[in-house]
Amino acid sequence: MGLQIFLDGRLVPESEAKISVFDHGLLYGDGVFEGIRVYNGRIFKLQEHLQRLFRSARAIALEIPMTMEELVLACRRTCAANGLRDGYIRLVVTRGVGYLGLNPYRCSRPSVFIIAATIELYPESVYRDGLKLVTAATQRINPAAVSPAIKSLNYLNNILAKIEAVQAGTVEAIMLNSQGYVAECTGDNIFIVRGGRLETPPTSAGALDGITRGVVMELARGMGIPVSEPNLTRYDLLTADECFLTGTAAEIVPVAEIDGRKIGAGRPGPLTLKLMEAFRNLTRTSGTEIGDALQ
Ligand code: PMP
Repeated sequence: MGLQIFLDGRLVPESEAKISVFDHGLLYGDGVFEGIRVYNGRIFKLQEHLQRLFRSARAIALEIPMTMEELVLACRRTCAANGLRDGYIRLVVTRGVGYLGLNPYRCSRPSVFIIAATIELYPESVYRDGLKLVTAATQRINPAAVSPAIKSLNYLNNILAKIEAVQAGTVEAIMLNSQGYVAECTGDNIFIVRGGRLETPPTSAGALDGITRGVVMELARGMGIPVSEPNLTRYDLLTADECFLTGTAAEIVPVAEIDGRKIGAGRPGPLTLKLMEAFRNLTRTSGTEIGDALQ
C-alpha cells in the first residue's frame, strides 16, 4: 500500500510523491531538512526542530513557503495519515525547480515534503555493549566555507567520513575540524565524561547544534552535573572516563572504543546509563500530540 507523503500542501501516495529532476535540491543539494522523532503518539521537540529548520533556511536565503504553524499541522497530519505513533519524520525543503545553472533566484518555488516512517539506525547490541568509533581522515567542513550549523541537503562531507567508518568495519566516525579539534560524528554529536563533568565540543568547532545534544545538556544540569563546551582533542576522548553520542535517530549511544582503544572501562559508563534512562523517560512523557481527527 505504501506510505502517505505530504508533498507541497497535500497528502499523496508514496508512488505519486515525485520531485522534478530540475529541482536544485537534487541537482545541487540546495535545500534544508530535519529528522524528528515520534514517541508514544507525540512529536518530540517539534518546536526546536522547526526553529532550526527556519534558521537553516534563513542561512541559505531559502524562503519556506509555509508558516511554523502550518508545518506543525502538516507533521501531525502526515503522522496521523500513516497511523504513526512511534517513528521518525523526515521534513525536507528543497530550493525547487530551476534551470541547469546554480542561480537559486531562478528557481520557481521551494518544495516541502514530509515522510513519516520508521528508522532503526544502530543495532540493539550497540546500546548494551557500546559502539566502536574510528577517527576519520576527512575533516569536518570549515565553518567559513559552509557552516555545519546549517542542516542542509549537502551531506557529502559526512558521507565521505561515513565511508571511512564502514570501510573500517564500523558505523560511525569522529570528524575533526581543520584545527584538529573534535567537531562531531557523521550524524551524531559527541560527549565525554571526565571527573564527573560532562563535556561536548562547542558549535564553533563545527558541531551541529543538535536537539538531542541540547536535551542531554539540560538533563545533566538538572542532575547537578557540570556541563561545558570546551575544544576537545583526540587526547581528551582517549583519556575520558565515558564517551557517548547523541542524535535524533540514534538517541544516546554509548561508545566503547575509539580507534581500537577502550574508552574508560570499555562499556557503557554509569553517567551514560543514567542519562539514557532520563532521556527515555522524557521522550515518553513530552511532545506535541499528533491527535487523530486531523485528516
Ligand atoms: N550532527 C550531524 C552532522 C547530524 O546530521 C545530526 C542529526 N542526525 C546530529 C549531529 C544530531 O542532531 P540532532 O540531535 O538534532 O538530531
